[in-house]
Amino acid sequence: MTSAYRADHVGSLKRSPQLIAAHQAHDKHELADDVLRAQEDREIEAAIRMQKDVGIDVLSDGELRRGGWTGDFVYAVDGFERGAPPVQLGWANRTLAQAPMAQIIAKPLKQRARFTKTEADFLKKHADRPWKITLPAASYLVSRGYKPGVTDKVYKSRAEALAAVAAILRSEIAALIEEGANYIQIDNPHYPDYLMESVQSQWRALGVDPKQALADDIAADNAAVKGLKRGSVTVAMHFCRGNGGSAHWHSEGSYEPIAEQCFGRLDYDRFLLEYDTERAGGFEPLRFVPKSKIAVLGLVSTKVGALETPDLIRRRVDEAAKFLPLEALALSPQCGFSSTLLGNDINPDQERAKLALVVDVARKVWGNA
Ligand SMILES: [Zn+2]
Repeated sequence: MTSAYRADHVGSLKRSPQLIAAHQAHDKHELADDVLRAQEDREIEAAIRMQKDVGIDVLSDGELRRGGWTGDFVYAVDGFERGAPPVQLGWANRTLAQAPMAQIIAKPLKQRARFTKTEADFLKKHADRPWKITLPAASYLVSRGYKPGVTDKVYKSRAEALAAVAAILRSEIAALIEEGANYIQIDNPHYPDYLMESVQSQWRALGVDPKQALADDIAADNAAVKGLKRGSVTVAMHFCRGNGGSAHWHSEGSYEPIAEQCFGRLDYDRFLLEYDTERAGGFEPLRFVPKSKIAVLGLVSTKVGALETPDLIRRRVDEAAKFLPLEALALSPQCGFSSTLLGNDINPDQERAKLALVVDVARKVWGNA
């Protein structure tokens, strides 16, 4: 790990209406690749300028090239088929018919192409400070993609599928490290599934033991970063309860039931944790984060435009410091601003103000270190 990055953010930024329209036209084959690419480039340059202006410690490209937070993984890897997910998540404010389809592992997985190289090359060229690339977690892809009756014809066990996905991610991460990425962030809306009895009972009905699955998931997410040259790169995991479109989410509850295993055993330098609403529970589970690591407190909300006060955020940081020393803490919004193409109900000025607030409070608490 190279820096504490006290003023962090999860990664995705709102796309402009023009860029959304361009993505939609491209999806319908009405817009050429190079025209979309040129527009993405322009908007990413502007996004980088904005992040530098507010003073955030790590730059992202806002995930502006992506249609959604998972990016191109399932398009760059053969073996996925779109289908109904193996279990239904209890999405708030969404009907079952609106629940997302899943990418089911239906054939042996084989990586056909790199899936973050374009993003990394552009950031490397245009960023003058550390930059990050985000990737979906192996455990997430398997939790949504391992379907008994389909996947077990290809991979004998869930653990085997996890190992296959982790190996692909590991090779992508190794390439990113070679290319100079400073910060790799694995996004994971899956671990909070273990807080939901409604999800676990569906797994049990499919023959998946949640206790074993959690241990297998942690092993796979560790395998994705095992043996890599970690000296110049920060490796992080973002725990997510789903924040699409401001109103939707699928998990709630304190981290307590998974904290000891996840924080204690995941071989990651930092954990980006949602803490913007009561849905995330208290700070007590932070006691399981090893003091050599950093818990990034997601105290500023990307779900609402209204700006929190610096005093409120500062007070919450102090409360968290009762369970983990300040030196092992950092600050960010609880999630990205746009994990989907359309993103959250928040405008560019509000987005900028939220990031500026993160920087403001981080500097007051930790100085410029
Ligand atoms: Zn998130």
